[in-house]
Amino acid sequence: DSSSIDKQVDSVCPYCGVGCQLTYQIKNDAIAYVEGRNGPSNQNRLCVKGRFGFDYVRHPARLTKPLLRKPGVPKALDPSFDPANPLSHFREASWDEALDVAAKGLMDIKARYGSQSLAGFGSAKCSNEEAWLFQKLVRTGFGNHNVDHCTRLCHASSVAALMECLGSGAVTASFMQALDADVVMLTGCNPAVNHPVAATFFKQAAKAGTEIIILDPRGQALDAYASLSVRFSPGTDVALFNAILQVIIAESLYDEAYIAAHTEGFESLKQSVAGSTPEAMSELCGVEPELIRDIARRYATADKAMIFWGMGISQHTHGTDNARCLISLALACGHTGRPGTGLHPLRGQNNVQGASDAGMIPMVLPDYQPVGDAQLRAAFEELWNTPLSDQPGLTVVEIMDAIHAGSVHGMYIVGENPAMSDPDLHHARAALGKLEHLVVQDLFVTETAQFADVILPASAWPEKDGSVTNTNRQVQRGRAALPLPGEAKPDWWIIQEIAKHFGLGWRYTHPQDVYAEMQQGMASLNHISWERLEREGSVTYPCPAEDAPGQDVVFSDAFPRAGGRAAFSPARPLPPDEPVDDDYPTVLTTGRQLEHWHTGSMTRRSRVLDALEPDAVASLSSGELHRLGVAPGEKLTITTRRGTITLAARVDSKIPDGMVFVPFAYAEAAANLLTNPALDPDGKIPEFKYAACRLTKE
Ligand code: SF4
Repeated sequence: DSSSIDKQVDSVCPYCGVGCQLTYQIKNDAIAYVEGRNGPSNQNRLCVKGRFGFDYVRHPARLTKPLLRKPGVPKALDPSFDPANPLSHFREASWDEALDVAAKGLMDIKARYGSQSLAGFGSAKCSNEEAWLFQKLVRTGFGNHNVDHCTRLCHASSVAALMECLGSGAVTASFMQALDADVVMLTGCNPAVNHPVAATFFKQAAKAGTEIIILDPRGQALDAYASLSVRFSPGTDVALFNAILQVIIAESLYDEAYIAAHTEGFESLKQSVAGSTPEAMSELCGVEPELIRDIARRYATADKAMIFWGMGISQHTHGTDNARCLISLALACGHTGRPGTGLHPLRGQNNVQGASDAGMIPMVLPDYQPVGDAQLRAAFEELWNTPLSDQPGLTVVEIMDAIHAGSVHGMYIVGENPAMSDPDLHHARAALGKLEHLVVQDLFVTETAQFADVILPASAWPEKDGSVTNTNRQVQRGRAALPLPGEAKPDWWIIQEIAKHFGLGWRYTHPQDVYAEMQQGMASLNHISWERLEREGSVTYPCPAEDAPGQDVVFSDAFPRAGGRAAFSPARPLPPDEPVDDDYPTVLTTGRQLEHWHTGSMTRRSRVLDALEPDAVASLSSGELHRLGVAPGEKLTITTRRGTITLAARVDSKIPDGMVFVPFAYAEAAANLLTNPALDPDGKIPEFKYAACRLTKE
């Protein structure tokens, strides 16, 4: 009943990278309900998370006071630990005491072991302003570039390929452009589950006549809208894409004029894929040669075509190669730079684009300026009035390895839950347990916070002012709708207090001050003032003028590389790091469900979402279950070389025989106890989408 509402506050959904705009309906300082707003990426639509995913904000387990670990309590994930009652392991402290212990512990490590001994994980749940402050603290306070976040586990390989080939890591066109495309190729993504409102645009496009082509080892709900849905063998992406490229070249379906005007390296691509005929690749990728030709012809002969991809492409040890192939496809056919064309890695988190742009990445400064470039570094040294290290920092998994190796001794983790999200959790958790000093800033005593020395109670998204940037490069304004509970504080304030202890003398009074500084260091935010965000709610970058809209489709004339040309970067098929064998004959793949977000800390504390999907399940084909002698609902055990979990089995006709899918949101059956930490050499992303496992009846 809207008449009983106290106030309405416009903001953005805190979950996925679609960035749906919404309105909180507030009653008695609580969210009564949420409605979709007419934002550019959602046009009033919301999915089940955006509508029902907010109970976590006022959950009884929400942290409202700083906590300090009690002396003598071991640092480990303790199965008897009750996160709703953390005081058994921790004691409450004042902010003064907690900040003092937090910062002094970190400073003491720096003094004893040197400036490379500290590291920071931020989160794509941070606003742009929080991300900026956090990376600035690590670079100027810790004195290194050991700052990373969940982009490393998400699209780091896509960004590496896009940077290399196009000179920019962001999408070349929004997903709304699908409405203008003749062909939309979806590969390694499952938008109906992971980007549900983007999926509605694909459905809309299909209904209006756009041809949808889906390439994936798994089936999905959008198959019903596809002209062609092709399942290929897991981990053989490059083989399939090279065969498609070979057909395009052999049948002269490429765009010669576009290639001549806008690219370099086509000859080396030609040579590289010459032997990858459909007949030669068919057995490896499990797709009939004629079907491969069909895919190639449909994509190449379309006037306007787009490619969308997700973690199925990026989360492999050959993830960067996978993305290089997709970029080659678009360049060969001239499918970028015009409306209805483009390359679009669908971003996972609501602010993974913005947190990356703002510099929460170890090898680059904000706006992807390489740390090793003295001239670019000097600009930030001047802006921050501090010398910066010239050595790129460590990535997420490398930081865990460095803890084991004894070179990193202290960490500050904001909003990230590596004790659930990192691959090979036994290794990651052992690393967290080894840290001499760990400061965690979060909403709950997460699995990671259970290893902390100090836990700082942070702010939830509906309590924050700030900006976020979605998958379409739309910078959007989030607004605080609720007061902070108890003594919880805004994240920017907490980071600033830690910085003050490091002697950095920051004096920001509001995220707006931070945004003003970001505009000095980030050309991508040119002409997108805070006032403009306040007024318009959403502005796409790059933006040519204060009074002009941002550019939805980029690279019409030139690419941001030397000479203005994009580069083809050929790739060769490589096997997965850990192929299946007689001992471990089944492919384990992991990911999200529609109802649950990442490590579950928010959605499993939201009543409706928890009611929809309360328990951990492993999804398999009926044939696979029959072979195991397990009935749906019965327990099965999954074992890899790194760990074992037991959970209920579910029949899923979309999963091929020989594969099992496990969501990673459930602490009681943590999928990442099983996953392989082997890294892609360029993107440094682990192979979450392929591990060899063994299934047994419990
Ligand atoms: Fe939120 Fe994404 Fe759902 Fe939109 S599609 S409501 S941004 S989770």
